[in-house]
Amino acid sequence: MTKKIKKVCINKDCRYKGKSLELNKFNKGSRVCKKCHSKRVLNDRDNRINKKLAELIDKEVIKADELESANLLFKSCYRAIEDCTKNKGLYRNVSIAWNDPLLMMEDLIMKKKRFWEAWKEQSEIYFKSNKMLSARATLDRIQEDGNYTLDNIQMLSHGENSKKAHVKPLNVIVMDINGNKTDDIKCKSVKEAVDALKIKHPIHAFIDSGKTYSHEDGRILLFKSRKKSSK
Ligand SMILES: [Zn+2]
Repeated sequence: MTKKIKKVCINKDCRYKGKSLELNKFNKGSRVCKKCHSKRVLNDRDNRINKKLAELIDKEVIKADELESANLLFKSCYRAIEDCTKNKGLYRNVSIAWNDPLLMMEDLIMKKKRFWEAWKEQSEIYFKSNKMLSARATLDRIQEDGNYTLDNIQMLSHGENSKKAHVKPLNVIVMDINGNKTDDIKCKSVKEAVDALKIKHPIHAFIDSGKTYSHEDGRILLFKSRKKSSK
């Protein structure tokens, strides 16, 4: 008997239409192919969010014309939870008070009236601007070194939020190719660091990541955010 090395996706709507597929097209032990699997995950997510939104409309927590804003909020909650769970880059050591984006969205809408008002206003600007990224409402942590909790979240437009990230004071440790420290620079902002060190690439993902940035000229840089001097 020959060993079976191919598999058929059992989803009747599969794009491969019953064709035998290589095993790498499947997650281990799964009977549906990876394409069908991710479609199913997205569908489940959509079904849950739609059900929750319908429920909030029924309870008159939100109005029908606020659906789009709520959807944006859901997506932001989803991303925040994803990012914090991965514990990487900017979100290293940032914790989040929710593990279900639907509950997070619901809490923000129901328990933070002013936040929700601001979110809706900003979303309206965003839609009117033809979805200009800088106008997108985002979840901002008020205390930047704090976590995602009900008290520490405010609405900022994407533009305001990036600006805020840019004025974050930084310490940059400069090392030579052998890892010997050659300099320790204090910068008032990301922009100042980028200018002073003549870096071309975005460095946000490196800040507080514990990972070094290798400059093409051989310098090795380590970025650490610094708390703003008291004011
Ligand atoms: Zn399939």
